[in-house]
Amino acid sequence: MKNLLLILLLISFSNLGFAGGTVLECARLIDVENGKVLKNQQILLEGERITDVGKNVSAGEDAQRISLDTCLPGLMDMHVHLDGQLSRNGYIKRFQNNATDQALLAAHYANITLQAGFTTVRNPGDSYNSTIALRNAISAGIATGPRIFSAGKTLASTGGHGDPTNGFRHDMMSDPGPEEGVVNSVQDARKAVRQRYKDGADFIKITATGGVLSLAKNGQNPQFTEEELKAIVQTADEYGFHVAAHAHGAEGIRRAVLAGVHSIEHGTYMDDEIAQLMIERGTYYVPTITAGMFVAEKAAEDGYFPAVVRPKAAEVGPQIAGTFARAWRAGVTIAFGTDCGVSPHGSNAQEFVYMVEQGMPAMEAIQSATLTTATLLGQQNQLGSISKNKLADIIAVNGDPLEDISILSEVSFVMKGGLVYKNE
Ligand SMILES: [Zn+2]
Repeated sequence: MKNLLLILLLISFSNLGFAGGTVLECARLIDVENGKVLKNQQILLEGERITDVGKNVSAGEDAQRISLDTCLPGLMDMHVHLDGQLSRNGYIKRFQNNATDQALLAAHYANITLQAGFTTVRNPGDSYNSTIALRNAISAGIATGPRIFSAGKTLASTGGHGDPTNGFRHDMMSDPGPEEGVVNSVQDARKAVRQRYKDGADFIKITATGGVLSLAKNGQNPQFTEEELKAIVQTADEYGFHVAAHAHGAEGIRRAVLAGVHSIEHGTYMDDEIAQLMIERGTYYVPTITAGMFVAEKAAEDGYFPAVVRPKAAEVGPQIAGTFARAWRAGVTIAFGTDCGVSPHGSNAQEFVYMVEQGMPAMEAIQSATLTTATLLGQQNQLGSISKNKLADIIAVNGDPLEDISILSEVSFVMKGGLVYKNE
């Protein structure tokens, strides 16, 4: 009996990849670290990691071999909201969906996102901490999706972009506080960050200015005091969080950058002076051009948005592409992000097309969604390139995305942590 157990153990270990490993044979490999395309490369995998890359890796005879065209690191989107999808009259769902509904939506959209080649996402704001639960389920192997870095519930001020009761009937509005993510003092700010720590968030998301889709009039005004922002960033720092700031108007962006946030999301009315400040401070810019384009398009349709949202969508949406181009030319570090959940989940790669249209070379656009995003998350030793000892998050497409960036919308192969999720 003991011998049988030993044999079974040995067999199961060998199935974990200790025998020959897996070799991906890539006609092209996008080497994002050196900004080069390498021909005829092999990637040797054992378990969840890459153990060798080169023209001729030494794999065992029984190694599994998979032939692919262009291999590149798994893509990373720094701004998605997995637990919902914008739709005509979608605001009513806030009164219909329970926490469990949100969690199931998140699981559904996470799978779509992974199938689109995005193996890591940052989720800056959800309802009921649904994406924290999903992150845990994916790590435990009981749900399928990308690696998730979740902020849980966004922090806002009363009536601000992330106040969850905006637009409600007065007797239903109540007065949400730090636990629900609504902050109106330095003390609230600290408590709200500590609550996110207790909730199990990975980082902090704040709405530093008004926003487009909230049921409120102003899409640009600053919505935190400088003291509140500093208290958020300082407390976040003490708990090992970085802070991502949604911001459209210039004053709110400036305050957030000066307070020391890690990234500016959207950044619509960023001026040259703020761009310089971001370069000096090393603040990342996550543009979300896709979201801007999508809401501008929908603003043209009668009845798609509530009356208070429509003019904001029409005004703010078309600005972001131009802001991206100016910020990038000035030298601001661009980290890829789409705001999918506004635009349809799975359409993430459309952002590459917009970036390249604005003049960014295709290689640089790919680097912004791999190397730069890994660094933004502090995961540069684990993720972001096809390199020895990193996690095996690898995708493939047919054709050369440096010649036609839109190819990235048709991913044929997806591997995350050494497991294959798509191979067409
Ligand atoms: Zn967002």
